[in-house]
This record gives sequence, C-alpha cells and structure tokens, in this order.
Amino acid sequence: MGEQIKIVPLGEVDGGIMMEVATQVSMTLGITAIVDEMQHYHESAYNHQRGQYSAESFLKFLDAPKEGSIRVLGITDVDLYIPDLNYVFGLADESRDVSLISISRFKKGNGKVVERAVKTAVHELGHTYGLVHCHDNKCVMYFSYNLSDTDYKGKEFCIKCQKTLDKSKNLFRGETMFPALR
Ligand SMILES: [Zn+2]
Ligand SMILES: [Zn+2]
Repeated sequence: MGEQIKIVPLGEVDGGIMMEVATQVSMTLGITAIVDEMQHYHESAYNHQRGQYSAESFLKFLDAPKEGSIRVLGITDVDLYIPDLNYVFGLADESRDVSLISISRFKKGNGKVVERAVKTAVHELGHTYGLVHCHDNKCVMYFSYNLSDTDYKGKEFCIKCQKTLDKSKNLFRGETMFPALR
C-alpha cells in the first residue's frame, strides 16, 4: 500500500470542512488522504480550571497506525491546550506518526477555517516526517503563536523544508521496500 494520511474526526466536526481539508492536505503533501469514521473523545481530557481539553490526551486517543506508510491526523472542534501555553492549534507525536489539529479558534474572522486548518494540518504532519520549526515566516513549518502568524504563512514548505520532506519521504519509501532494514 502507498503512503496515506488517515484523517480522524474526534467528536463532531463539520463534514464539509473535513472533506475540504483532506483534499487540500493531500494536494499539498502529494499523499492520498482519507476521512475515517468519527471517534469519540473522553471527558477525562477536560480541564475544568482552564475550560479546555488537553492536546496531549487527545493525541493518546488516536491509535498509532499499524503500517509504517500511514500517518494519522485527528481533527477536533474543541479548544486544546498544553501545560505551558494558553492554547495550541495543533500538536504531533512524531514517535507514533500521529498528529492533531483543533479548528475551534479558526472560526474567528470569516471564511478562513479551511485555509487555517490546512496550514496547521500540513505543519503537524510535517513534524511526523521529522521536520522541525522553520525561521521563514512564510513557510508552513513556521510556529504560529497566533492566528495572524497562521494567516501570514503559506500552506507550502520553503525550499529547505521541502528538501528535508522529500528526503524523509524517499527514506520512508525505501523502508517500505526493504522491511528487513527497518
Ligand atoms: Zn510545530
Ligand atoms: Zn521552512
């Protein structure tokens, strides 16, 4: 099987947004993306003091893909946090090829939900390919502190990051061709 991104809605997420994000993420990364069945999240991830859900817990709700050629992207509509930040737009667990985004904050302002979701999804999936944050504020791997950062950057990788991604994808193809070398 070729490379694939499995998109998992965590809780209720607008189906139209899901499909649009899947299409654009697939085009940007050059990898097939499929939308999987909705999965429920557990209320245990809710922090009453903060009124937000733990992004780290949400990542754990997502099963790691069974095949090395698959990456998982969870999408949720609830607001997420990690202990050191007021909120996060997304998070990735590179060790398990699992990533996550929240569209909760993307609705502020109009008509930008999909665009912001795509940029954030490509960014988090980029982490699962071993990419780190980039200093180029137009590059999708630039870390977004706020929505203006997200709106300013593109959904594409800069030349440097694209090279790293291509290398990582090739390596990965090599791995699937020669499983004994993994
Ligand atoms: Zn990041
Ligand atoms: Zn870059």
